Amino acid sequence: MKQLPDLSISERRAQILLSIEKAAISNGVDPESICLTGVSKVQPDNRIEAMLATGQRVYGENRVQEAQKRWKDRIEKHPDIQLRLIGPLQTNKSEDAVALFDVIETLDRPKLARSLAKAAEKSGSCPELFIQVNIGQETQKSGVLPSETDAFIKSVRNEYELPLSGLMCIPPNGQPAAPYFTLLKEIANRNGLTQLSMGMSSDFELAIAHGATHVRVGSALFGERVSSH
Ligand SMILES: *Cc1c(COP(=O)(O)O)cnc(C)c1O
Repeated sequence: MKQLPDLSISERRAQILLSIEKAAISNGVDPESICLTGVSKVQPDNRIEAMLATGQRVYGENRVQEAQKRWKDRIEKHPDIQLRLIGPLQTNKSEDAVALFDVIETLDRPKLARSLAKAAEKSGSCPELFIQVNIGQETQKSGVLPSETDAFIKSVRNEYELPLSGLMCIPPNGQPAAPYFTLLKEIANRNGLTQLSMGMSSDFELAIAHGATHVRVGSALFGERVSSH
């Protein structure tokens, strides 16, 4: 049997945007209020260039150095690119991360809050911040435990005086994600946070149905990653 050709990047993106629009409308929210983050980690240059040509401007990366390599020159060419860090951040990379990223979604411990506050003070500006919540309480995942999130939010706001925008989570693999999305929204609501980064290639529509404002889509948008991390 002959294999069907890959969908082109722009067709993939158009399909995802249509799915986002449908999910938003059936959830009673403005499709324009949902941000599609194109997760570009590991993707080859030809796909990045094809994605830029579609007008996609919001990208997610999970490693600081890889992101610097992929985006430094491209940001000069396209100053309207928005970069979001969606992977764990070591404190010794705080300054680099503050310099490169518009949004850091993975604030997950007091030591990192302190380090980001210092880096922001030094640079005179601070990225928008999301707290990553370890919503399934998995030992191998980073993030603040759900039971400790209220207290951490308070200390980020009051002790470190950092600009907090929302919460991010990655639900456990192979389990229904809906209860985890619901829990993240509850934590956000009771803390006055309006932005929720949740949902990936396999479940972004479900995440939108549960209140996601930012979805992080990699393989469904760019095609499968050649090596995964
Ligand atoms: C890789 C990654 C994604 C994208 O995953 P896909 O399943 O390819 O859409 C989303 N969020 C985070 C935190 C990731 O590391």
